[in-house]
Amino acid sequence: MQTSHSPGLQTLTRALTAMLMWCCVWSAQAVELHSRHSLIEVKHDIQYLEDPEHSLSPQQLLQTQPNWRKNPDAIFNQGYNHSSWWLRFPIDNRSQIHEWIMEISYPVLDHLDVYLIENNQIKQSWLLGDKKPFTARPILHRNFLIPIRVTPATRAEILVKVRTTSAVQVPINIWQPESFNQHNEQRSALQGYFFGGLGIIAIYNLLMFLALKDRAYLYYVGYVVCVALFVACLGGWAFQYFWPNATDWNDRAIVLFLSIALFSGSMFVRLFLNTRDISKSIHSIQNVVVSSSLIVAMLTLVLPYNLSIRLVIAIAAIICSWGLGLGVFAWHRGLAAARYYTVAWAMLLISALVLALSKVHILPSNVITENAIQAGTLLEAVLLSFAMAERINQERALRFNAQQQALQSQTQAREELELRVTERTQELEEANHKLLELSQTDQLTGIKNRGFLDLYLDKQIRRFAESQRSMTVLLIDADHFKPINDTHGHQVGDDCLQEIARRVENETRWPGDIAARYGGEEFCVILPDTGLAGANIVAERIRKSVAEAPVNTRIGPLNLSVSIGGYAAIPNTAQEPADFLSYADKALYAAKGNGRNQVQFFNASESQTDSALPPS
Ligand code: GH3
Ligand code: MG
Ligand code: MG
Repeated sequence: MQTSHSPGLQTLTRALTAMLMWCCVWSAQAVELHSRHSLIEVKHDIQYLEDPEHSLSPQQLLQTQPNWRKNPDAIFNQGYNHSSWWLRFPIDNRSQIHEWIMEISYPVLDHLDVYLIENNQIKQSWLLGDKKPFTARPILHRNFLIPIRVTPATRAEILVKVRTTSAVQVPINIWQPESFNQHNEQRSALQGYFFGGLGIIAIYNLLMFLALKDRAYLYYVGYVVCVALFVACLGGWAFQYFWPNATDWNDRAIVLFLSIALFSGSMFVRLFLNTRDISKSIHSIQNVVVSSSLIVAMLTLVLPYNLSIRLVIAIAAIICSWGLGLGVFAWHRGLAAARYYTVAWAMLLISALVLALSKVHILPSNVITENAIQAGTLLEAVLLSFAMAERINQERALRFNAQQQALQSQTQAREELELRVTERTQELEEANHKLLELSQTDQLTGIKNRGFLDLYLDKQIRRFAESQRSMTVLLIDADHFKPINDTHGHQVGDDCLQEIARRVENETRWPGDIAARYGGEEFCVILPDTGLAGANIVAERIRKSVAEAPVNTRIGPLNLSVSIGGYAAIPNTAQEPADFLSYADKALYAAKGNGRNQVQFFNASESQTDSALPPS
């Protein structure tokens, strides 16, 4: 059934409804604009309405009375959703200022329509949002700024419509234009420090990478640059300065830079903390973190913004917690560079917490809390640079220790080698000495042999000829020795020869005296600095030592005697050893001829032998 009304009644009804609504607005708590207020934050004065079908128009809202709700939060925030949202609040200009600036400081909102309503009529409207080219804005600023003209001492209403794939956050401030400019300058300076600081850190670490060829630096540079770009996108600077017309790319850029930051950050963590060395399972988890961040980075290129932003935020939360936990673990394990690293991550998380707490008004909203995340990011970047420097220090210390150890073992090896060479040389010298001894020793009797005697006699004659000192050569021959061999055998003969040698040597113990086996049963004694008289004493002692005591052999004691022929002289340089020996031999021959067991000396001047002592 259709209800019919007269046109007059309809008009009246509409007018009454509008009046009623306007009265409601009028009666609502208005945002008062006083000249003493440089900034008015619009919080609980906001009423809002969800329009899931996107079916409402501002005119409809002005003519009907929908169910407006009161905004319970300091900042209107509805998270991620597909609805359109209507916000309204009355303003009451109690100042003499005609134009105020309304700022919506969340520059990633897609569609933002703002209406100024006076007397239930749309007086002015602005269609904003980052889906429209930057130049379409009434005031060219990274945040949405709307110049609101309200005649002093009048009331008006602000109606806002938001539709966005980003989080539905609408922080509204109303500024006096001058104050806004001042505040904006201050804010720009702070942002300048932030981006400048990150730029310096990025350049410094890029140079470090070029110098050291350590890929950790490259990933770190990637991380810093992407974080800076992410903040620039989020804060509207990138849209304002880099791509003011690329509205679609602007959305994508936010998630893309954040996800590349996550990828390069987790690659950096992998290399910096050297997860491979920490443990196999931690390294595998880190690899999963790295690959998932890379996959997410690629997905952001194809997924719609509202999906990819949620994915990236979830992954970011996981990676940040994991990165912090890993730092604490590595610190606990004694990795010095992990200290700075952990503090750096903690700084970032604390700054995020400070920002969050200021948003829910547990902490005051001021220049510190507002810029906490930037300060935290900057501090994190600085601390990570410290951590990188600390890592170089640690590596240098390790290298230095390794070098020292290598040097030490080298020195040790050289010392050992030198010791071994000395030992070997000593052994060789001893062996040589033994060999020499052996080559100079008579096998049977153990006294010097003929070879030694010849060399020694030659040397002595030259020496004594030069210094014109006298010396003596004695030739000692066992008497009737052949019969001993013949009677008792050669072994008994050898026993006798050994004993004669021992006695001859015993009697020639004077320093420099030399006793040698001349051959067969003949011995030779050289007496330096000894003339005829002295030599005779020695010769007699030898003769007696053999003759006066029987020689012990394996068949019992045997009586033996020796004949001794000597030659004593001061040698001249022309004299040969053979001369001395032949003179001594001549004297020996004389001793034999004279009846044996006696000493005879050769007298050169008389060319005959002297018998110093009568034979006993
Ligand atoms: P003389 O009093 O004239 O010197 O008589 P002799 O028998 O000692 O002299 P001769 O020259 O005729 O003999 C030397 C002997 O010395 C010959 C040899 O049997 C003995 N003889 C030489 N060399 C050795 C040796 O190495 N061992 C033994 N057992 N006998 C030796
Ligand atoms: Mg002989
Ligand atoms: Mg003999």
